[in-house]
Amino acid sequence: MAEVKYVFVTGGVTSSLGKGIISASLAKLLQSRGYSVTIQKLDPYINVDPGTLNPYEHGECYVTLDGAETDLDLGHYERFLNVPTSQANNVTTGRIYQSVINKERKGDYLGKTVQVIPHITDEIKRRIKLVSSGNKYDIVLTEIGGTVGDIESLPYIESVRQLKWELGAQNCLVIHLTLVPYLSSTGESKTKPTQHSVKELLETGIQPDILVLRTDRHLNTDLKRKVALFCNVEENAVIESVDVSTIYEVPIKMHEQGLDKTVLRKLALSDENEPKLDEWREFLTKLKNPKNSIKVGIVGKYVELPDAYKSIAESFIHSGAMNECEIDIEYIHSEDITESNMTDRLSGLNGILVAPGFGSRGIEGKVLTARFARENNIPFFGICLGMQCAVIEFARNVLKLDGAHSTEINHKTKYPVIDLMEEQKSISDKGGTMRLGGYKCVISKGSKAFEAYGKTDIIERHRHRYEFNDKYLHDFEKNGMLAVGKNPESGLVEIMELKDHKWFIGVQFHPEYSSTVVNPHPLFLSFVKACMS
Ligand code: GLN
Repeated sequence: MAEVKYVFVTGGVTSSLGKGIISASLAKLLQSRGYSVTIQKLDPYINVDPGTLNPYEHGECYVTLDGAETDLDLGHYERFLNVPTSQANNVTTGRIYQSVINKERKGDYLGKTVQVIPHITDEIKRRIKLVSSGNKYDIVLTEIGGTVGDIESLPYIESVRQLKWELGAQNCLVIHLTLVPYLSSTGESKTKPTQHSVKELLETGIQPDILVLRTDRHLNTDLKRKVALFCNVEENAVIESVDVSTIYEVPIKMHEQGLDKTVLRKLALSDENEPKLDEWREFLTKLKNPKNSIKVGIVGKYVELPDAYKSIAESFIHSGAMNECEIDIEYIHSEDITESNMTDRLSGLNGILVAPGFGSRGIEGKVLTARFARENNIPFFGICLGMQCAVIEFARNVLKLDGAHSTEINHKTKYPVIDLMEEQKSISDKGGTMRLGGYKCVISKGSKAFEAYGKTDIIERHRHRYEFNDKYLHDFEKNGMLAVGKNPESGLVEIMELKDHKWFIGVQFHPEYSSTVVNPHPLFLSFVKACMS
């Protein structure tokens, strides 16, 4: 069996250049040429996973089907490649140290002094190879988080150097992403930061094979030649990545400059099969030529940082394109919504999505939003905490259970319509202990959810501790809010839906994690349709 090939993507000059998008785009191109590809992200922070991070710190926490709480870049990987990632696709420094320290405590190092080199770097290399164990993939792309030169990234960079040496140039290559800023005072694009960044990489023993230059305007051939000469790379291995209107255009831009061809040639792989990108291009055409437009409000408490709702925003892009509809998203701070201003703030929207979240801040604004949508027959989509808020609202205002709440917010409420799941009651650790990953759900025929999915048996990803309190189900259903989706094993309520409403669905799971370009999520598709009509 052919050996697995490794491609590493590092970043220089500054963070936020879009390594994740470049990695996902290259992976898409290689996949569309018939190679099996996966992408892995190595994060330099000490948290064991990003599950314990506040979204303000690091944007959304993405959840894989196998229940890993991961970096939001994994969402991009799945949206581009349309194949699930797993626990092994995201590794943090915290996780690396945790395994090394656990081994040390077990005595596995046989009296040796445990050090960054070789023990930490060996563990990093083991994790890199683990993704493709059993030669599952032809090519593994590994994105190194952070910026070259950061103290925290050093063990990762050193591991890449070692792997390059161990595996040989044809099995392992490094793509370095940098920034070429434009100075308006002199009217020039400057290459010096790139030169310095490559020098920094060279000091660690790595000669990058390919350079991708982020820029806000086209770079001329002379400039690219200069970068090639000064940075010691082939001329056709200097690729520009000019700002584009949508991230989904990046694969096309990279292909036009032959990034995929250069990578395959360097890895001694065949470039005979041209990439099959028809479906992708069709999506782009639809995305860029909408026939309708709608305005959807996303009500949440992290709206200052739209990355906190990345997967939701991307799901709207997928479902909007499929419906040939432009979706203008208005992010609305749930703390800003009050009884007196809600009509002002929320009318004019074609649909409202109440976002997931934790804790009490902004909760009443979400509850009010659910009421406004219910009373005014506005399409409403509640995700996780969003569903729980719709339940709380219905209990208070329709069932007249005064002060009904979730015990997450008020543990003394007289009417705990949302309560801690039984298996959560004995858990005190916060990291990795929620109900996580894919769980089955059976949908009732005749419901709007069933209409959207077109089937009864689904699997959706979860990330929560609280659930709908079954004790109240009879009352809810009698009054028109139905549990139309349930877990077949535990009986947990997964989907709530209003009977007499245009489109009012709350889901305990996170549909946004599984929407991709070629497979927009059915609930988003159906919600957008409802908003359009
Ligand atoms: N905080 C709620 C819970 O734990 C909802 C979580 C979420 O929205 N992801 O159940």
